[in-house]
Amino acid sequence: MAYATSEAQSATVPATMRAAVLFGPGDLRVVRKPTPRPGPGEVLVRVAMCGTCGTDLKIQAHPFPNQPPFGEFTPGHEWTGTVVALGETVDELHLGDRVASEVHKGCGRCENCVLGMYTACLNYGSVAKGHRTSGLTTDGGFAEYVVHHVTALFPLPDNVSWEDAVLVTTAGTGLYGLDAIGGYVAGDTVVVIGPGPVGLMTVQLCKALGAERVILVGTRQSRLELGARLGADVVVDARPGNAVAAVREAAGKRGVDLVIEASGAAEAPQQCIEMVRRGGKVLVVAYYKEPVRLDLGRAVREDITLYGTRGEGGNNVRRALSLVAQGKVRGGELVTHRFPLEQIQEGFRVLREREGDPIKVVFVP
Ligand SMILES: [Zn+2]
Ligand SMILES: [Zn+2]
Repeated sequence: MAYATSEAQSATVPATMRAAVLFGPGDLRVVRKPTPRPGPGEVLVRVAMCGTCGTDLKIQAHPFPNQPPFGEFTPGHEWTGTVVALGETVDELHLGDRVASEVHKGCGRCENCVLGMYTACLNYGSVAKGHRTSGLTTDGGFAEYVVHHVTALFPLPDNVSWEDAVLVTTAGTGLYGLDAIGGYVAGDTVVVIGPGPVGLMTVQLCKALGAERVILVGTRQSRLELGARLGADVVVDARPGNAVAAVREAAGKRGVDLVIEASGAAEAPQQCIEMVRRGGKVLVVAYYKEPVRLDLGRAVREDITLYGTRGEGGNNVRRALSLVAQGKVRGGELVTHRFPLEQIQEGFRVLREREGDPIKVVFVP
């Protein structure tokens, strides 16, 4: 049964849909629930694919602040799909458009949003004030349909696949970090620590932006091999505990201009400080389980500038999408596992237990 819409435009949309709902810690089940309706400025998207990341495991174990209640909440923050209904005032997109998404939609009224720093919105989690993070503080993409604000949606060029589009959200995180440090890495030697999805996309972004040498540091051989295929000039196995010495040797006399920490490993921030050359930069885009120890005095003595950025702000998902469409960044190769939405528990088990070295696990509704 289709619902009658008051939206400006709508394709035929069923009144209910299949969606994963978090009923309690670790209790994520696919049920039927009402199909969401787009309000003013919003868009209803039929989900083609939704990726997963470590955050999805964390929110199933312990609710995040501002997470919708158990029994209602549908997670999933790395989705792509097709526009099927437009809320009032939306004329930037059309029915049938394929779109990529970014997670954050700032309130648009706090000082940070006014300055363009909407991933650091001061009204984070306040739906009433217009903020939403899809799949974190509002319903997301582990469902047949999802609503998001038009500012967080980007039309896909025809040559961009669904798999690439899922990874565009991830690439936006690396690109926002590079944006924040000044965006200019041409001719530089860059180290990326952590060959997870963010790290592997960031390797490619640095090459696309003209970095002379990109050194990827990780512990899993299969990941390092993929990193090399995706453009890393040198890969360094961090396992023997000599990552710093190996990086310094690979970098040569000039040293490392920039280290990007994308691993979240407790020892990595100290390694960054020891790898980077005097006067260089360290960019942290990872999250840590606990407070980390590092020799801050060394960072000061060596005139090292430290940066930390959150998520995929600064309109960098749109820019990352352009790099994908230009063939300069590849996302689809990171999609290693694909499950129908009904097998969501099995998919997360594979991710949690790292069965078959999953890089990006995706669900297809
Ligand atoms: Zn994520
Ligand atoms: Zn704001």
